[in-house]
Amino acid sequence: MPELPPQAIRLTDGTGGQRLPVKPAFGSPCNGCGYCCAEEPCAIARENIPDHPEEGPCLALEHEGGRFVCGMIRRPGHYMRLPNDWADGHLGGLFAQALGAGRGCDAGDPGPCPSLQTDA
Ligand code: SF4
Ligand code: SF4
Repeated sequence: MPELPPQAIRLTDGTGGQRLPVKPAFGSPCNGCGYCCAEEPCAIARENIPDHPEEGPCLALEHEGGRFVCGMIRRPGHYMRLPNDWADGHLGGLFAQALGAGRGCDAGDPGPCPSLQTDA
C-alpha cells in the first residue's frame, strides 16, 4: 500500500476516503487505527525488513476491512524478501508475540492533528 504521512493517516484510510477508526486511549483494545505504525516503524520492522528507513510510516502497514493490520504478522516473508512463504506462520507468530498483539493500545496520545489546526 502507498506510504501515508502521519497527519494524513489520521484522517483517511488512503483508499476510498473512509474515516479511520479514531485512536483509543492508551491501554484500550486495539482498533486498528494505524496511528502507531504510521508515526514510526517498530524494532521488528527496522531490524527485519531490508533497508527499512529509521523514520516515517512502516512499510509493512497494511489496510484490510476498514482497519490497519501488521504485515509482519500477516505475511512476513513478503517484507523480509524471503524466497517463499513457508515460514510465514512461524515468523508471524513470533512477531505477534514480540509486539504484544492483543494486549491493547500501547501508543501514547497523538495530540492535535496538524491538518485540523486553524488560526481561529
Ligand atoms: S496499538 Fe493503538 S495506535 Fe496502534 S493501531 Fe492499535 S489502537 Fe491504533
Ligand atoms: S512491523 Fe507491524 S507493528 Fe511494527 S510498525 Fe510495522 S506494521 Fe506496525
